[in-house]
Amino acid sequence: MFLKHRKESKELLLFRHLFFRNALSSKDKYYYRNLESGYAGELIFDEWLKPITSKLIFLSDLTFEINNSHFQIDSLLISPERIYLIDVKNHEGDYYIGGNKWYTSAKKEIKNPLIQLQRTASLLRQLFQYHKINYYFEASLVFVNLEFYLYEAPMNSPIIFPTQRNRFINKLDTEAGGLRLKHRDFKLAEKLLSLHLTDSPYSRIPVFEYEQIEKGVICQSCKSILTEQVTTKIMTCSNCGFAEGIEQAVLRSTEEYALLFPDKKITTAAIYDWCRIVASKRVLQETLAKNYKLIGHGKSSYYIKSL
Ligand SMILES: [Zn+2]
Repeated sequence: MFLKHRKESKELLLFRHLFFRNALSSKDKYYYRNLESGYAGELIFDEWLKPITSKLIFLSDLTFEINNSHFQIDSLLISPERIYLIDVKNHEGDYYIGGNKWYTSAKKEIKNPLIQLQRTASLLRQLFQYHKINYYFEASLVFVNLEFYLYEAPMNSPIIFPTQRNRFINKLDTEAGGLRLKHRDFKLAEKLLSLHLTDSPYSRIPVFEYEQIEKGVICQSCKSILTEQVTTKIMTCSNCGFAEGIEQAVLRSTEEYALLFPDKKITTAAIYDWCRIVASKRVLQETLAKNYKLIGHGKSSYYIKSL
């Protein structure tokens, strides 16, 4: 069962919003594409696991700290017998190994994912020792993209290639076999979730200013920015024809605003300028009042998310 579902990290959402609002530098765009690709790979891996979800406990996107070092884990699978530490990679194209280094087919060196995996495994071992967690774990590097190929891959490395998917899942299935997850396994999952840090120190935040970001509402379907004012309850994308309720569109955009500008206050005037599409300030105010909590009175009042 999935005890901690995967969802987009705050970092990915930030970069995604800025990307569609044309506010990323070319370097940040490259970084953003890698984030999206990594996330897409993790979703593919979750699909792989679907046939065996009832037999294991899955934890996704964990961040821990031990001895002043932080580390992230894409997937941790708890089976009755052991734990699997999984690092998911969505690399595409041809790669080769030369000595201890990994290269693309264009001879560009990339970070050696096996070294990253070793580091994570070593830190997880330290975390287990510190918290007296007495479980054996196995670390694997899983490549999910069918367009990936690695030349000179060593035979006995902990790598799972996309073509080995079925054997890998069958292995997990067989090992879990008739064994049932025990109370102890759930206790362990709970313990690990309690140690998970919600704010990842890995997050990178690009530099941006309110003024340089394109305002308007982003179409949920084609991602173009809509700025034309509407007086009806439905907003229709002039590019693809996708229709969305104004209220939902405003709330979606307000959440984006709050994520991008945590220090700015949510006010009717601010959201009016941010969304652009709502012709009437009164309609906007009603939408905010209905879904957010109003703090203060008069000109200095603002909204916060009601819990
Ligand atoms: Zn559209």
